[in-house]
Amino acid sequence: MTSQHARYVIIGAGIHGLSTAWHLAKRLKATGKGSGEDVLVLDKTGIAAGASGVACGVIRNNYFQPAMRELMAHSVDVWESDPEAFSYHPVGYLQIAPEAMREDVGQIYTEQQAIGYTSELVDGADACRSYLTGLFSDWQAPGISVVLHEKRGGYANNVASMRGLAAKATAEGVTIRDGVTVTGLSVDGGAVTAVQTDTGDIACEQLVVAAGPWVRDFWSMLDLPSHISVTTPDGATRPDVPMWTYWALQEGTLGVDPNEFTDNQGNLPPVVHVDSTEPLYDDIDGSLITDQMWGVYYKPDFSFGGVQGGASPLRLDKPAGEIAVDPYGPESPEFAVGEDFVRMWTSALAHCQKRFEGKRSVYRHEPSGGVGAFTPDSFPVFDTFRENVYVIADANHGYKMIGIGQLVAEEVLGESQALLEPFRFARYSTGELHPTSHSPFPWS
Ligand SMILES: Cc1cc2nc3c(=O)[nH]c(=O)nc-3n(C[C@H](O)[C@H](O)[C@H](O)COP(=O)(O)OP(=O)(O)OC[C@H]3O[C@@H](n4cnc5c(N)ncnc54)[C@H](O)[C@@H]3O)c2cc1C
Repeated sequence: MTSQHARYVIIGAGIHGLSTAWHLAKRLKATGKGSGEDVLVLDKTGIAAGASGVACGVIRNNYFQPAMRELMAHSVDVWESDPEAFSYHPVGYLQIAPEAMREDVGQIYTEQQAIGYTSELVDGADACRSYLTGLFSDWQAPGISVVLHEKRGGYANNVASMRGLAAKATAEGVTIRDGVTVTGLSVDGGAVTAVQTDTGDIACEQLVVAAGPWVRDFWSMLDLPSHISVTTPDGATRPDVPMWTYWALQEGTLGVDPNEFTDNQGNLPPVVHVDSTEPLYDDIDGSLITDQMWGVYYKPDFSFGGVQGGASPLRLDKPAGEIAVDPYGPESPEFAVGEDFVRMWTSALAHCQKRFEGKRSVYRHEPSGGVGAFTPDSFPVFDTFRENVYVIADANHGYKMIGIGQLVAEEVLGESQALLEPFRFARYSTGELHPTSHSPFPWS
C-alpha cells in the first residue's frame, strides 16, 4: 500500500542523482513550478556509495566524439563554478600519444578550438620531447608523436565533491534518504506511479534513475530488453547485442610523497595520460610486459596519499545478469586487480618518468577500483522511458559529467536539451552512433 509521496524521486546519491536533485530544486523554485521539498533522493547505502565515491576523479575534454566534447565543456563550466565546494583541482590534463593516434588527437584539438575550449597542441616527435622535458626534466618515454595539453579540467576528490553536491542539494530543500533500497516499480497505464522500497512504497509523478553500475537492475524493472539490435553508421545490423557489458576499472596508488611529483617549476602537474605503441618492459627485471598498444594515467593525489591512476580496464566475460555488483568497489567479487596490473602500471610510470623507476615496492596494496556498466557503443544513454522515467546511464564516463544533472533537470521539466540529443536510445536503431577513435580505452 502506498503511504509516502514525493513529486520527483531520484534513485542514487552519486554524481548524477545529486547533481540532478540540486538543479531540479533550483529550477522548480526559479520557474515557480515547485520547490526543493518536492525532490527526494533515495540511496540504498548513502552519499558516494557507488562509482562516484571510488572514481579517480579525472576531468578532461579529450574525446574523439564531438558530442562528448561539448558535453564535457559544459560540465567543466559547472566544476569551475565552485571549485572549493566540489574539491576541484584545475591543474589541466595532458594526452600524450603515439603516431597511431596523431591524426585523432590533432582533430580533437582543432574541434576544441572551434568550441572555445582552451588547449595547446604539440605536434611531432622532437617538439613533443622538448615540450615534455620542459615540463618534467625526467621525461623519457620514446615514441611520442603528439601532445594535447588541455588547460582546463584536472581532477577532483571523489567523496568530498559528492558531499559538496549533497550540501548544495539539501540547501535547496532536497531530502536525501540513506539506507532505502528500491526493489521494484509500480506501473499503471504505461507510467511509473510509485517506487517499491524495503521501507514501503513511495508514490511519485516523475522518476529519475541514476544508479550507476546498478542500471541493469532498473532496466529490467522497466521491462526493457537485455539484448538489442544495433545498426551501424554503414547501415549494417548487429542483432542480439547485450545492452549492458561490465568492465573492471583498474586503479592503484604508488605510495610516494605526492609533494614530490611536481613539474620543473615546482607546481602541481597536469593529469598525465599516456598511450603508447612502444613495447613495455618490466622496470625491475627487464622482461617484456606487452608489445601491444597500452595506456595509463596518473596524478599526484593528496586524498589517495600518493601518485594515483590506472590503466585500460578489463572486460568481464559474463552476461550482465550474472555480474555481482554488490558489495560495490574493489570488494566486488568480480573485481580482482592482481599483480599483472601492479607490474604493468608501475612499469609504465617508470617507462615515462625516471623518478618512478624501481618504485614498485612502495605500491599500496590496498583495494581500489570498481566495476562499470557499459552500453553497446560504450557511450551514455540519457533518455526517457515508460513516459515518466528518466534514465541516466553514463557508460562509466560520468564522474567528470557534473553538468548532466543540470541538463536532465531541464528535460524533466519539459525543456529538451540539444547537448543530450546525440545520446538517445534510438541511436542504436537509426545508426547515428558516435565515431570511434584509435585509443586503447573503451571510453575515448
Ligand atoms: C575505479 C573507477 C574510476 C573512475 N574514474 C573516473 C574518472 O577519473 N573520471 C570520470 O569521469 N569517471 C570515472 N569513473 C566513472 C564514474 O565513476 C561513473 O561514471 C559515475 O560515478 C557514475 O555516477 P552515477 O551517479 O551514475 O552512479 P554511482 O555513483 O554509482 O551512484 C549510484 C548510487 O545508486 C545507489 N543504488 C543502486 N541501486 C540502488 C537501489 N536498488 N536502491 C537505492 N539506491 C541504489 C548506489 O548505492 C549508489 O550510491 C570511474 C569509475 C570507476 C569504477
